[in-house]
Amino acid sequence: MSKFKELGLQESLLSAVADLGFETPSEVQEKAIPILLESETDLVALAQTGTGKTAAFGFPLIQKIDSASRTTQGLILSPTRELCLQITNEMQLYSKYEKGINIVAIYGGASITDQARQIKRGAQIVVATPGRMKDMIRRGIVDISKIDYCILDEADEMLNMGFFEDIQDILSNTPKEKSTWLFSATMPKEVSTIAKKFMHHPQEITVGDKNAGATTVQHEYYVVGGRDRYPALKRLADANPGIFSVIFCRTKRDTQRVAEKLIEDGYNAGALHGDLSQNQRDLVMNSFRKKQVQLLVATDVAARGIDVDDITHVINYQLPDEIETYTHRSGRTGRAGKSGISMVIITRSELRKISAIERKIKQDFIEKKIPSGIEICEIQLYHLANNIKDTKINKDIDGYLPAINDVLEGIDREELIKKIVSVEFSRFYNYYSKTHDLNSTDHSNKRERGRRSDGESAPKDGSVRYFINVGERDGYDWMSLKDFLRDKLGLDKEDVYKVDTKDSFSFFNTDAQFTPLILETFSDFKVDGRFINVEVSKNPGSRGGGGGRKKDRFRGKKKDGGYKKGNKGGSYKSKSKRKSGFY
Ligand code: ADP
Ligand code: MG
Repeated sequence: MSKFKELGLQESLLSAVADLGFETPSEVQEKAIPILLESETDLVALAQTGTGKTAAFGFPLIQKIDSASRTTQGLILSPTRELCLQITNEMQLYSKYEKGINIVAIYGGASITDQARQIKRGAQIVVATPGRMKDMIRRGIVDISKIDYCILDEADEMLNMGFFEDIQDILSNTPKEKSTWLFSATMPKEVSTIAKKFMHHPQEITVGDKNAGATTVQHEYYVVGGRDRYPALKRLADANPGIFSVIFCRTKRDTQRVAEKLIEDGYNAGALHGDLSQNQRDLVMNSFRKKQVQLLVATDVAARGIDVDDITHVINYQLPDEIETYTHRSGRTGRAGKSGISMVIITRSELRKISAIERKIKQDFIEKKIPSGIEICEIQLYHLANNIKDTKINKDIDGYLPAINDVLEGIDREELIKKIVSVEFSRFYNYYSKTHDLNSTDHSNKRERGRRSDGESAPKDGSVRYFINVGERDGYDWMSLKDFLRDKLGLDKEDVYKVDTKDSFSFFNTDAQFTPLILETFSDFKVDGRFINVEVSKNPGSRGGGGGRKKDRFRGKKKDGGYKKGNKGGSYKSKSKRKSGFY
């Protein structure tokens, strides 16, 4: 019997589950679904983002709704339009084999008449943002006086966004006799207040530690001078060629500014914040989903709706004011069983905040260095070599080959390779070779705790960095590669560190004493018939710096020009003022 069947779901839902490809229930689903199906109870469920909360309330709600009646029986409140649409979408997929169930989304920034029309046709389930819901109640368009179920999804975020009074208002239009289900990633005071005020003896379920971030996320921080935030951001992007990232800023202004600068510098970046029109936000989100936008710069509020599962890095351009918010930010990566990295760019004076966040998320941060210009060049060089290797040959070139051969006559293979790579690489190299170290070196303010920060416990000059020719496309992430290396080398947990996986290659560090062992082990080592090659990386790890732009197949914009040597920070004059910040 399927695991979902054991939870008590009816056949029609099980068919939908099968179509969705869900094999086993997530923990929050396993805990919540039986409770909600078996009893009429209030419920508080705490689980991190990406743990499948939508289905945890969605399945039971659909099963309990009377589809023969047109009355609105279930109300789901969610903080943003994007989430509202996402929940509606998911719920429609869940209920695809149910007859006569209508699920309608109500949210701001779209025609109220259209939404009113849909409600009029009869919607057993309404998914709404608080603002528009209040509006529609006031206008008498929607009647929630007979609902049996009220779900507060992402309750912490709704309260963060100042919806407390709206929620109170909306709930005052619902019957006393109903079940209220509250779902939240974190449990700040305000959420307990809501639970106390509006719920009756709720059952409580918690998945993982309260407030803990997902354990598949590695948390890193980079200490820089206040004015080096932007060049540091660029280096982090440049050091991760396959990056697919959300970059968080504190204000709409910074969000817009950082996105604009990135675009000017040739990155595929976009901005997402509340000052953009709905249409602009939809455009940028669509491009992000399609990975045409690789770096999405967003405010916390706007980012709530991001339902993209394969984000590789979350970058905190600035730390949020509230620690809770950090949990939400980092929860954008490491979703759906994948691993992810949450990076914090921080100044020395803010370092205390890191300890506070560590206590909250019950996970340690790793102090990392902003990669040097040379390290970035090295990464880009390997990336380029791999791109060349993977490039599909264009048949139309054949006709020109004799002429090209004439031009390249007399150049041997090795020289040719050097030249081809140099075409691309010199620009990068010239750029980075003129820049300086971005890491803040003032240690007077160091964090109180002398805890080991990855790799830093090792004597610095005794640490060796290696290049290995496997990466994410071979199915490794930083955790599994670390495990693989430790296992093959018979080393301890702490002996392999600074593991950075890229698309088709990776880097890691060990103390120098292990270098002979490593080179020996991998001198003739095959996995699935393929040689695994490890080399000592030439990266000295400290000098170099500045900004820089990349150019690879993701970077459609500005393939040429705009590449100024020695221009600190790597930006050049804006060609035009772009209002919305996406291409
Ligand atoms: P949350 O609300 O907790 O942040 P979601 O409900 O948005 O998480 O789910 C995150 C992702 O996981 C979605 O893409 C969803 O379709 C998927 N998902 C949910 N439950 C399961 C499951 N049991 N098996 C596989 N994937 C699931
Ligand atoms: Mg959710």
